[in-house]
Formats: sequence, structure tokens, C-alpha cells
Amino acid sequence: MRGISKRVFLRSTGLIAGTAILGIRRARATEGWDVIVVGGGTAGLPTAIFAAERGAKVLLIEKSGLLGGTLDRSAGQIAAAGTKFQSAKNIQDTPEAHFEDIMRITRGTCDPALARLLVDNATATIDWLADNGYTTLPEHPVIEGEHEAFTTARYLWGPEGGRSILKVLKPQAEAAIAAGKVTALMRTGAVELMQDVKGAVIGVITEDSDGLRAEHTGKSVVLTSGGCASNPKMFEDLHGVPLYARAAYPFSQGKGIELGVAAGGYVRGGEKYLCNSGSVLADINYPSPIFGSAVTDPRRRQPWEIIVNRRGERFVREDHPSVDEREHALLKQPGMRSWVVFDQEMLDKAPPLMPALGNERMLGLFDAHPMFAKADTIEGLAKKLGITPNGLIQSVANYNDGQAKGVDIFGRKHMPLPMARAPYYAVAQQGITIISFAGLAVDNTLRVVKEDGEPVVNLYAAGEVLGAGATSGNAYTNGMLVTPALTFGRLLGSKLLPLRTA
Ligand SMILES: Cc1cc2nc3c(=O)[nH]c(=O)nc-3n(C[C@H](O)[C@H](O)[C@H](O)COP(=O)(O)OP(=O)(O)OC[C@H]3O[C@@H](n4cnc5c(N)ncnc54)[C@H](O)[C@@H]3O)c2cc1C
Repeated sequence: MRGISKRVFLRSTGLIAGTAILGIRRARATEGWDVIVVGGGTAGLPTAIFAAERGAKVLLIEKSGLLGGTLDRSAGQIAAAGTKFQSAKNIQDTPEAHFEDIMRITRGTCDPALARLLVDNATATIDWLADNGYTTLPEHPVIEGEHEAFTTARYLWGPEGGRSILKVLKPQAEAAIAAGKVTALMRTGAVELMQDVKGAVIGVITEDSDGLRAEHTGKSVVLTSGGCASNPKMFEDLHGVPLYARAAYPFSQGKGIELGVAAGGYVRGGEKYLCNSGSVLADINYPSPIFGSAVTDPRRRQPWEIIVNRRGERFVREDHPSVDEREHALLKQPGMRSWVVFDQEMLDKAPPLMPALGNERMLGLFDAHPMFAKADTIEGLAKKLGITPNGLIQSVANYNDGQAKGVDIFGRKHMPLPMARAPYYAVAQQGITIISFAGLAVDNTLRVVKEDGEPVVNLYAAGEVLGAGATSGNAYTNGMLVTPALTFGRLLGSKLLPLRTA
């Protein structure tokens, strides 16, 4: 503990008595790292790979037994302007156009400095992936996926989603480990940061799977330990919204956020929370696994049904072309809960509402699964759902009236059938998110900053530990988590960290 004030050390570790320290069993301490990377996932792997390539002595701390983090399940959708993939298809694009799209889609709610850092550097990241074997689906780049469309086709993803990216990163990381350039401590979590008397970060305390603690000192520490979307308590504390879905990487426990705050940083972005629409949960208790998806996106399937809230009221033009509009409308509804309501004729004539399930299997779920209900009358259906009967009766009457006249009160265009033939059905949808919006504030060189704007010396962060709000704003912006995670990791490793070889 040379150079560390005991008082500051105790404060930063949260340990309140010397006996507590003496009582901890120790693993081997290490010292002299140029970079200590906390978390070997989407952002941490490129940080370690590029820092090692630059000649740095890198310690990579990974809590799980695997490298890759959320890339095991992420769709891995990424975007940049001027990539090799665009050039191959003669698509003209510029970082400025990408920046403008991000600002339009986020309505200016992301951090513009981080958006700028991203658009200016993401092209090199994606080209580096391409040079190292990354391929995309043949029709890519495209203009849109499940989120709001770009103005130019720059959005792409691999045939295996996030795993297509991991297939590039993992061998590179493993080669650096095999060459002794990166030392990886697996099944070992960062539990505290070490600080000197002035508050500069000087190392990390880890705990391995046997509960052994060790101190590791280094010049820079990079927090790349992911978000908090698997930690219901922290998620709700930071966003003011319950964590409805259990779908994030289990190790996304928000530990990096906690470490950054304990070292002097602060959290921002919880107010940028936005829910996705269309998810059907497995259980009424949350966080719940996602059971399936009812397709309410008119780009994939025009709606035949109506969508109502807890009061039985419609709240959005169901066929609104903007997914962002529909998500923001759902965000304002009580509990972010909605019900897709339809009758027998709609069920018979419309394309399947849940294509992955099919109508036959879906029919078996009504009144057998908590999210599926069926009744002979509209009133009976509302009662089963626990929503206001008069509200639903009125909504159906208004919809039928508008459908007959061809003029809907919400401006809906696609209204092939009235809702008039019993039985009536409803599928409950929950507005959810599988990412966290709140995270550590950083400056435009990815230094963790205090509320007064001063950096916490030697402490950096990248990836979802920054919070989706920082890069994706109060919106779901195409690729604005994986692309910044990869790009900011690459930038930290290749130039932003002050290595001795720099
Ligand atoms: C299903 C799904 C689909 C998604 N699709 C997209 C998409 O298409 N496009 C997009 O832009 N975004 C998408 N996202 C979000 C995006 O994938 C993540 O934000 C991003 O991968 C997170 O990268 P990260 O490096 O911050 O975290 P991770 O990749 O999760 O890496 C963090 C690592 O840190 C480790 N760790 C955690 N705590 C500690 C600790 N205390 N000590 C040491 N190690 C620790 C973890 O085990 C993990 O390996 C999706 C997310 C999900 C869940």
C-alpha cells in the first residue's frame, strides 16, 4: 500500500476498520501495470487489444469465466459513415451526416461531444473489424433495423449478431494473452479502486471466485464492466423505473458505476430512459424473462388490432411510421403496459400477430398464460384484463366508427376490419428495456469526471458503464451502444491512455 493514505484507502474501499482488512484472505498482489481494464467485454477487449499492440503492460480483470460480455447475446448492430462496406456498394456518406442523423434521432439528447468522438472514429473501428474477418449480412449496410431509420444506408450487422464481432475480438485478445502482452484474471471481479492522498486512482482491488482479495497497481484504470440492467435495485434507483425484463448479460450488475462514483465520479442519464414496445413477458412478476414478441411495428406487419392502456384507451396511432413516436407514446402510459386487442375475424384474416409462435400455438395460450386473455364480450375481456371496461367499450366503438368512415381520431390509415365478431382477445405487452441509460459521466477523452467537471485522475470508462443516455440519448439510436463500446475501447487502447510508450 505504498503511497496510499490509509484514510483515503479505507474510504475508497468502504472498509471501516483495520481488523476488517487483516481479516481478508489475500491472493497475490501485482504492480506496475500500464493499464488495468475492468471487464473483458465489448469495450474492454478492444481496450486491451489496442493497448497491448501499443506495447503496454495490460491487466484484464474479468468477473465471469468467459471473454466477450454482452456480445454473446447482443444483436451486434453497428454503424459508421464511409466504411469499406459502404464503399463496396458505392454508398456516399460522411461523419457529419452520421452526426446529424444521431442528433435528429436522439432529438439532441445524447452527449454531443461523445457523438462527435464516435462518428469521427467509428469508421476505422468497423474497417478494422472488416480487415480482421468480420462480415455482414449480404444486403448490408441498410438504412434501418428495428429502430428509427437513418437517412443513409450505414447500418450493419453480422450473420451471428454480436458473436460475429466476438469472433474477431476473441482470437486477438487470446493471442495477446498467449504472447504475455495481456494478463487476464478470469472469474475475478474488481471490488474497489485504490486512490492516493490526492484522489488519483492508482489501482484496483479484486476478489476471485474463492473470495481471495488482491491489490493491483497501475498507471490507468479503465472501467468497461457494462451497465446495470441485471441489477433490479440499482436499475430502479438510477432510472426511477422498475426493471421489467430479465434479458441483459447476468454480469451487468453496475459494479463499474459504483466504483466510479466511489472514486469521485457521478451518474447521469437515468432520465433518458425509454422503453421498447412489443415485448410479451413470461410472468407477471418482474424482472421477468421475455416470452415473445407481438409484432406491432408497421414496417414488419401493418396492425389490424387496436392497442389500449390500463384505462382501456387507445393512446397512439398504431400504424405510426415512427418507432420512436410509438415508444414515447407507450412511455407515458401507466406502468408502460399496453394490450393488443382483436376479435375473431381479425385473428382469422390478419397475418400472425406473433409469427414466431404462430396462431395455432397462440390460441392455446388464451386464459392459460397470464399475458393472454379471451372473452365473449368487450366488457368481459376488460374485466379479465383488469382494465377499465367503459374505456375499452368506448375505444372499440370509436375505432369502429372511424373504421366505417375511413377517418380515425389518431390518423391511423390501416384499418381493414371493425372489431365486432366475438370472441375478443388481448395480448399484454410490456414496455421494457434490456440496457441501462444511466452511467458514469466522462469528458470527450473518456476520463471519468466529477460534478465540477474535473477528471478523476487516471480513471477512464467506456461501454454501457457510460449509460445508453450518453450515446443513444432518450431514444434507441441505431448501433449507438456497440459501436461506441468498440470504438471508445479502441481509442483508449490506441491513443487516449497515457502509456509510457506514448
Ligand atoms: C439482447 C441485447 C441486444 C443488443 N443489441 C444491440 C445492438 O444491436 N446494437 C447496439 O448498439 N447495442 C445493442 N445492445 C447493447 C450492447 O450490446 C451493450 O451495451 C454492449 O455490448 C455493452 O458493452 P460493454 O463492454 O459495456 O459491456 P459487456 O460487453 O457486457 O462487458 C462487460 C464485461 O465486464 C465484466 N464485469 C462486470 N462486472 C465486473 C467486475 N466487477 N469486475 C470485472 N469484470 C466485470 C462482465 O462479465 C463483462 O464481461 C444489446 C443488448 C442486449 C442485451
